[in-house]
Amino acid sequence: MKIIYGSELSKEMKEAMANEVKTLDRKPCLAVLLVGDNPASVSYVKGKNKACLEVGFDYRQIDLSEDASEMEVIDVIKSLNEDDFVDGILVQLPLPKHINEQRVINSIDPGKDVDGLHPVNFGRLFAGLDAFYPCTPLGIIELLKKMEVDLEGKNVVVVGRSNLVGLPVSRLLLKQNATVTICHSRTKDLARITREADVLVAAIGKPRFFTEEYIKDGAYVIDVGVNRVDGKLCGDVDFDNVKDKCAAITPVPKGCGPMTITMLLENTMKSYRMRSSK
Ligand code: NAP
Repeated sequence: MKIIYGSELSKEMKEAMANEVKTLDRKPCLAVLLVGDNPASVSYVKGKNKACLEVGFDYRQIDLSEDASEMEVIDVIKSLNEDDFVDGILVQLPLPKHINEQRVINSIDPGKDVDGLHPVNFGRLFAGLDAFYPCTPLGIIELLKKMEVDLEGKNVVVVGRSNLVGLPVSRLLLKQNATVTICHSRTKDLARITREADVLVAAIGKPRFFTEEYIKDGAYVIDVGVNRVDGKLCGDVDFDNVKDKCAAITPVPKGCGPMTITMLLENTMKSYRMRSSK
């Protein structure tokens, strides 16, 4: 059994990016908009800031208070859309309840939507066109490459159908010619389906849900879940219970999480390249 650390892969990718940044005329720039001071959001934003500095990107953070109006948020985004020095715009989610998240996402220039959440990018992904794809799904594909799984014709089961993870990763896996089954909370007899999976992607947000009866012998397992139990992080997969059954598995922490941030940097670099070639 191999444990595939996203933290190590992320370090390799960031080193390569940092070397490329040194050769550029100007630094790629990521702008992050934070509304309010939700502790989890503050910590995620800090992680993005640190990653940008590591690779030599410019990082701009715009902080708005919890009671900022939707119009104020959209006005900030409009000014970032027009700023030629900004390559990527990310709005840290969730937004306070009085703000409509979808309207805010819709206001981002799709050409700077490095989180890949704008309907134009989402639509292009499903149409099989180039676009900014969401970061966690991109990270999952990189982790599977690192596992050296040839996805063609493999039975891949994705559990979770969110717009952030389950749905887009399923489309990316189809693009790799996997045979993809998407499961969710209404799926009947889930264990029967996941036991057929050569590759299992677990993205449901339920701590240590997937125990050995859900896993096929020799499966490749990507654990996307981030859950906190007794103050400690754990995934959706019961790692200790299943690890000896798997060919390879990602841990939590140090699995998918670091790859999500790395793919955000990759998307920002992609935006920089596209914009500077215009
Ligand atoms: P989400 O929007 O809450 O979606 C959860 C999905 O899981 C839904 O499709 C839901 O089905 C399904 N589900 C819930 N309970 C289930 C069960 N018992 N059996 C089968 N399916 C079930 O969550 P998300 O945003 O996709 O995130 C999923 C997990 O990944 C969370 O733990 C989140 O923290 C983590 N995450 C990690 C990263 C990272 O970078 N590592 C990034 C994003 C998310 P229905 O659609 O039927 O409700």
